[in-house]
Amino acid sequence: MNVHLKLVQLRKKIRGNKKKVTSAIIANHSAEMCIICGSQEQLTREHVIPQWVYNRCAKRTFETTTNGIYQTYNKTTLPACKDCNSNLLGYLERHLKHEFERVDVSHEEFSQDTLELIVLWLEILEYKFQVLDLRRSLNKVNGADYIPFIGKMPIAMFQGPVDTSPAKVFSNLRSALHVLSVKSKVDRLNSLCIIHTKNKNFHFFHSTNNFIFIELAEFGVAFFYFYKQTFEDYSLTTKSAMEIVQDHYA
Ligand SMILES: [Zn+2]
Repeated sequence: MNVHLKLVQLRKKIRGNKKKVTSAIIANHSAEMCIICGSQEQLTREHVIPQWVYNRCAKRTFETTTNGIYQTYNKTTLPACKDCNSNLLGYLERHLKHEFERVDVSHEEFSQDTLELIVLWLEILEYKFQVLDLRRSLNKVNGADYIPFIGKMPIAMFQGPVDTSPAKVFSNLRSALHVLSVKSKVDRLNSLCIIHTKNKNFHFFHSTNNFIFIELAEFGVAFFYFYKQTFEDYSLTTKSAMEIVQDHYA
Protein backbone atom coordinates (compact mmCIF):
# COMPACT_ATOMS: atom_id res chain seq x y z
CA MET A 1 0.00 0.00 0.00
CA ASN A 2 1.44 3.39 -0.83
CA VAL A 3 0.58 6.81 0.45
CA HIS A 4 -1.45 7.70 -2.65
CA LEU A 5 -3.83 4.80 -2.18
CA LYS A 6 -4.30 5.87 1.43
CA LEU A 7 -5.08 9.40 0.27
CA VAL A 8 -7.65 8.10 -2.22
CA GLN A 9 -9.42 6.52 0.78
CA LEU A 10 -9.11 9.72 2.80
CA ARG A 11 -10.55 11.91 0.01
CA LYS A 12 -13.39 9.46 -0.55
CA LYS A 13 -14.27 9.50 3.16
CA ILE A 14 -14.19 13.29 3.27
CA ARG A 15 -16.28 13.75 0.11
CA GLY A 16 -18.90 11.31 1.34
CA ASN A 17 -19.20 12.80 4.82
CA LYS A 18 -18.16 16.43 4.80
CA LYS A 19 -21.70 17.85 4.90
CA LYS A 20 -22.65 15.60 7.80
CA VAL A 21 -19.40 16.34 9.68
CA THR A 22 -19.50 20.12 9.36
CA SER A 23 -23.23 20.31 10.16
CA ALA A 24 -22.68 18.21 13.29
CA ILE A 25 -19.74 20.35 14.44
CA ILE A 26 -21.70 23.54 13.77
CA ALA A 27 -24.70 22.23 15.74
CA ASN A 28 -22.52 21.03 18.62
CA HIS A 29 -18.93 22.30 18.61
CA SER A 30 -17.91 19.59 21.06
CA ALA A 31 -19.60 16.72 19.20
CA GLU A 32 -17.90 13.43 20.00
CA MET A 33 -17.31 12.12 16.51
CA CYS A 34 -14.45 11.76 14.09
CA ILE A 35 -13.67 15.24 12.73
CA ILE A 36 -12.72 13.72 9.36
CA CYS A 37 -15.46 11.16 8.59
CA GLY A 38 -18.04 11.68 11.35
CA SER A 39 -17.83 8.11 12.64
CA GLN A 40 -18.68 7.61 16.30
CA GLU A 41 -17.03 4.19 16.46
CA GLN A 42 -13.56 3.51 17.83
CA LEU A 43 -12.82 7.14 18.65
CA THR A 44 -9.24 8.04 19.52
CA ARG A 45 -7.51 11.30 20.43
CA GLU A 46 -5.86 12.84 17.41
CA HIS A 47 -3.10 15.29 18.38
CA VAL A 48 -3.56 18.68 16.77
CA ILE A 49 0.24 18.95 16.55
CA PRO A 50 1.66 15.43 16.19
CA GLN A 51 4.08 14.42 18.94
CA TRP A 52 7.05 13.62 16.68
CA VAL A 53 6.98 17.23 15.50
CA TYR A 54 7.71 18.78 18.89
CA ASN A 55 10.01 16.08 20.29
CA ARG A 56 12.83 18.54 20.64
CA CYS A 57 10.77 21.36 22.07
CA ALA A 58 11.68 22.15 25.65
CA LYS A 59 8.64 24.34 26.19
CA ARG A 60 5.91 21.90 25.15
CA THR A 61 3.26 24.58 25.20
CA PHE A 62 1.91 27.03 22.70
CA GLU A 63 0.15 30.29 23.18
CA THR A 64 -3.15 31.12 21.55
CA THR A 65 -2.84 34.69 20.38
CA THR A 66 -6.55 35.34 20.71
CA ASN A 67 -6.80 34.06 24.22
CA GLY A 68 -3.28 34.73 25.52
CA ILE A 69 -3.42 31.41 27.36
CA TYR A 70 -0.84 28.65 27.20
CA GLN A 71 -1.80 25.16 26.20
CA THR A 72 0.31 22.01 26.22
CA TYR A 73 0.78 20.28 22.89
CA ASN A 74 0.23 16.78 24.18
CA LYS A 75 -3.12 17.65 25.77
CA THR A 76 -4.43 19.35 22.66
CA THR A 77 -6.36 16.65 20.87
CA LEU A 78 -9.50 16.20 18.81
CA PRO A 79 -11.64 13.09 18.34
CA ALA A 80 -10.87 11.00 15.25
CA CYS A 81 -11.76 7.40 14.51
CA LYS A 82 -9.02 4.80 14.59
CA ASP A 83 -8.98 4.42 10.81
CA CYS A 84 -8.70 8.18 10.05
CA ASN A 85 -6.20 8.78 12.87
CA SER A 86 -3.70 5.94 12.64
CA ASN A 87 -4.37 4.38 9.26
CA LEU A 88 -4.89 7.46 7.05
CA LEU A 89 -3.53 10.65 8.70
CA GLY A 90 -0.93 8.57 10.56
CA TYR A 91 0.23 7.00 7.31
CA LEU A 92 0.66 10.39 5.68
CA GLU A 93 2.67 11.61 8.67
CA ARG A 94 4.92 8.56 8.76
CA HIS A 95 5.52 8.95 5.04
CA LEU A 96 6.40 12.64 5.40
CA LYS A 97 8.61 12.03 8.44
CA HIS A 98 10.53 9.53 6.36
CA GLU A 99 10.93 12.12 3.57
CA PHE A 100 12.13 14.72 6.10
CA GLU A 101 14.75 12.25 7.31
CA ARG A 102 15.80 11.32 3.79
CA VAL A 103 16.04 14.74 2.12
CA ASP A 104 18.61 17.22 3.39
CA VAL A 105 17.22 20.58 2.32
CA SER A 106 20.59 22.30 2.79
CA HIS A 107 21.58 20.90 -0.61
CA GLU A 108 18.63 19.05 -2.15
CA GLU A 109 14.97 19.64 -2.88
CA PHE A 110 11.81 17.72 -2.12
CA SER A 111 10.11 16.14 -5.12
CA GLN A 112 6.96 17.85 -6.37
CA ASP A 113 5.03 14.87 -5.10
CA THR A 114 6.34 15.42 -1.56
CA LEU A 115 5.71 19.16 -1.78
CA GLU A 116 2.05 18.49 -2.57
CA LEU A 117 1.84 16.14 0.43
CA ILE A 118 3.38 18.82 2.66
CA VAL A 119 0.69 21.26 1.49
CA LEU A 120 -1.99 18.69 2.32
CA TRP A 121 -0.46 18.07 5.76
CA LEU A 122 -0.41 21.82 6.52
CA GLU A 123 -4.03 22.08 5.33
CA ILE A 124 -4.95 19.28 7.75
CA LEU A 125 -3.37 21.29 10.59
CA GLU A 126 -5.45 24.32 9.56
CA TYR A 127 -8.66 22.30 9.61
CA LYS A 128 -7.81 20.85 13.04
CA PHE A 129 -7.12 24.34 14.41
CA GLN A 130 -10.44 25.61 13.07
CA VAL A 131 -12.30 22.80 14.84
CA LEU A 132 -10.24 23.38 17.98
CA ASP A 133 -10.97 27.11 17.93
CA LEU A 134 -14.69 26.35 17.76
CA ARG A 135 -14.46 23.99 20.72
CA ARG A 136 -12.50 26.32 22.95
CA SER A 137 -14.30 29.08 24.78
CA LEU A 138 -12.92 32.53 24.94
CA ASN A 139 -11.52 33.42 28.34
CA LYS A 140 -10.05 36.79 27.61
CA VAL A 141 -9.02 38.82 24.60
CA ASN A 142 -5.33 39.68 24.29
CA GLY A 143 -4.54 40.66 27.85
CA ALA A 144 -7.91 42.28 28.51
CA ASP A 145 -9.84 41.19 31.58
CA TYR A 146 -12.19 38.27 31.40
CA ILE A 147 -15.58 39.43 30.19
CA PRO A 148 -18.29 37.07 31.48
CA PHE A 149 -20.81 37.51 28.66
CA ILE A 150 -18.34 36.53 25.93
CA GLY A 151 -16.83 33.75 28.01
CA LYS A 152 -18.89 31.08 26.32
CA MET A 153 -18.16 32.18 22.78
CA PRO A 154 -15.73 30.13 20.72
CA ILE A 155 -12.27 31.52 20.07
CA ALA A 156 -13.02 31.11 16.37
CA MET A 157 -15.34 34.13 16.48
CA PHE A 158 -12.47 36.35 17.53
CA GLN A 159 -9.99 35.67 14.77
CA GLY A 160 -7.98 38.08 12.76
CA PRO A 161 -7.96 41.85 12.62
CA VAL A 162 -11.76 41.97 12.77
CA ASP A 163 -13.98 39.67 14.77
CA THR A 164 -15.57 37.05 12.60
CA SER A 165 -19.29 36.38 12.26
CA PRO A 166 -20.53 32.86 12.98
CA ALA A 167 -21.59 32.51 9.30
CA LYS A 168 -18.04 33.31 8.17
CA VAL A 169 -16.51 30.94 10.74
CA PHE A 170 -18.77 28.11 9.57
CA SER A 171 -18.09 28.71 5.88
CA ASN A 172 -14.33 28.73 6.63
CA LEU A 173 -14.76 25.40 8.41
CA ARG A 174 -16.60 23.88 5.44
CA SER A 175 -13.96 25.07 3.01
CA ALA A 176 -11.07 23.92 5.28
CA LEU A 177 -12.49 20.37 5.26
CA HIS A 178 -13.33 20.53 1.56
CA VAL A 179 -9.75 21.40 0.47
CA LEU A 180 -8.53 18.18 2.12
CA SER A 181 -10.51 16.29 -0.51
CA VAL A 182 -8.90 18.16 -3.43
CA LYS A 183 -6.32 15.88 -5.02
CA SER A 184 -3.91 18.19 -6.80
CA LYS A 185 -2.06 20.83 -4.80
CA VAL A 186 0.02 22.00 -7.77
CA ASP A 187 -1.63 25.41 -7.88
CA ARG A 188 -0.86 25.92 -4.16
CA LEU A 189 2.88 25.18 -4.35
CA ASN A 190 3.78 28.83 -4.90
CA SER A 191 2.40 29.62 -1.44
CA LEU A 192 4.74 27.20 0.33
CA CYS A 193 8.26 28.16 1.47
CA ILE A 194 10.79 25.50 2.35
CA ILE A 195 13.39 26.93 4.71
CA HIS A 196 16.63 25.30 5.78
CA THR A 197 17.03 25.87 9.52
CA LYS A 198 19.84 25.35 12.00
CA ASN A 199 17.74 26.19 15.04
CA LYS A 200 17.84 23.57 17.77
CA ASN A 201 14.28 23.93 18.96
CA PHE A 202 10.85 23.39 17.55
CA HIS A 203 9.00 26.60 16.74
CA PHE A 204 5.51 27.02 15.56
CA PHE A 205 2.91 29.68 14.94
CA HIS A 206 -0.37 29.61 13.15
CA SER A 207 -2.90 32.24 12.15
CA THR A 208 -6.29 30.81 11.19
CA ASN A 209 -7.21 31.30 7.52
CA ASN A 210 -3.95 33.06 7.03
CA PHE A 211 -0.64 31.23 7.46
CA ILE A 212 1.36 28.65 9.37
CA PHE A 213 5.03 28.46 10.27
CA ILE A 214 6.36 25.18 11.56
CA GLU A 215 10.02 24.51 12.25
CA LEU A 216 11.12 20.89 12.52
CA ALA A 217 14.52 21.33 14.16
CA GLU A 218 15.20 17.61 14.19
CA PHE A 219 15.10 17.53 10.38
CA GLY A 220 16.72 20.93 9.75
CA VAL A 221 13.66 22.15 7.88
CA ALA A 222 10.92 24.70 8.40
CA PHE A 223 7.78 25.37 6.39
CA PHE A 224 5.92 28.58 5.88
CA TYR A 225 2.60 28.27 4.12
CA PHE A 226 0.01 30.88 3.13
CA TYR A 227 -3.41 29.24 3.23
CA LYS A 228 -5.23 31.73 1.01
CA GLN A 229 -2.71 34.12 -0.42
CA THR A 230 -1.17 33.48 -3.84
CA PHE A 231 1.93 35.08 -5.31
CA GLU A 232 2.92 35.72 -8.89
CA ASP A 233 6.57 35.43 -8.15
CA TYR A 234 8.04 32.96 -5.67
CA SER A 235 10.57 35.52 -4.41
CA LEU A 236 7.59 37.54 -3.12
CA THR A 237 6.33 34.48 -1.21
CA THR A 238 9.68 34.11 0.53
CA LYS A 239 9.92 37.83 1.22
CA SER A 240 6.44 37.98 2.82
CA ALA A 241 7.11 34.82 4.84
CA MET A 242 10.47 36.03 6.16
CA GLU A 243 8.95 39.37 7.23
CA ILE A 244 6.32 37.56 9.30
CA VAL A 245 8.91 35.13 10.77
CA GLN A 246 11.16 38.02 11.78
CA ASP A 247 8.23 39.80 13.45
CA HIS A 248 7.48 36.68 15.50
CA TYR A 249 11.07 36.13 16.57
CA ALA A 250 11.72 39.79 17.40
ZN1 LIG B 1 -12.88 8.85 10.76
